[in-house]
Amino acid sequence: MTNNTDEKDPDVFQISGTQVARGETREIYLKVSESFLASGIHIPVTVMRGKLDGPTAFVTAAVHGDEINGVDIVRRLIFDIDHDRLRGTLIAIPVVNIPGFHTQSRYLPYHRDLNRFFPGKKRGNNAERFAWKIFSEVISKCDFGIDLHTAADGRMNLPQIRGNMNHPMVRKLARAFGATIVIDHKGLRGSLRLEATRAGVPTILFEAGETGKFSNRISIIGLRGVLNVLTEMGMWKHDGRKETKPPFQVIVKNSEWVRAEKGGILDLTVKPGDLIYTNDVIGTILNPFGKTVTRMRSPVTGIVIGVTTAPLTIPGTGVVHVALLKKTLSLVERSIRKTQKKKNKRKSAKK
Ligand SMILES: [Zn+2]
Repeated sequence: MTNNTDEKDPDVFQISGTQVARGETREIYLKVSESFLASGIHIPVTVMRGKLDGPTAFVTAAVHGDEINGVDIVRRLIFDIDHDRLRGTLIAIPVVNIPGFHTQSRYLPYHRDLNRFFPGKKRGNNAERFAWKIFSEVISKCDFGIDLHTAADGRMNLPQIRGNMNHPMVRKLARAFGATIVIDHKGLRGSLRLEATRAGVPTILFEAGETGKFSNRISIIGLRGVLNVLTEMGMWKHDGRKETKPPFQVIVKNSEWVRAEKGGILDLTVKPGDLIYTNDVIGTILNPFGKTVTRMRSPVTGIVIGVTTAPLTIPGTGVVHVALLKKTLSLVERSIRKTQKKKNKRKSAKK
């Protein structure tokens, strides 16, 4: 006689009517909207439940449909996690914004940014209904979450974590992820991370790379970060692998966009991760004949956390996003010098 203990388990987890028992992984299609062709829009949701008790967490990607690097991170995460070793429940969503993913766009239909409409409304506009479905079926059932993004179109970001560092639990998650840069910002109204945190589901956001691309390096950093957080929260144990601590970690309260003052063709000479000082030349703006119009100098000191990937400027174009460093500057300088020394040593050993 088969005795299905799962059926007796009062603690059966359920999404959109599909039940997931302890020690089970289920792939669920969650219906969130409908298309112009009268078919349903369904989000793929993987629910992994450990045999042992633990928290419930979500990891989401492509809330902005063109920010696809997180899709690869979630794919690797699903591959790495097995429910026999997991404690608690992990809900992994590789693509949240299905319409945007289809069209390689940030937006939902009617040019609405899904990440401004959380927690959503049951009878609201298309974006509010979409957000409400995810929020009520997934987010509100979790204890914490991680939302994976890249820079917006035309920009590239240094891997960084964003979160409200005044919130003790958000701070714990942000620190655990292990990014060098943590931007202390509570988030915009209607964003998943702000509204989830407000609703009692502390959430951090990972920003790295650029739209429309899978970067192996960023996927590795992202996956390691997510596993670091799951380990910190007692859901997972790193598999004999040494937890890789970042060379430094600074919490940044202020950042600034350095903007072009002139129109022209940009020859940018800094990249994400570079330390720049006030008055450093960060690039040159040229006219179509190749003559220098102006050299761009940084008005601030800090670490480059984002750059434009577009080669053209007009007055006001954001060129370089700098995390301002004051008290932590010497810490970052020391750490960068150390890493440089190690690199040089490795180079000379190879010779
Ligand atoms: Zn985004």
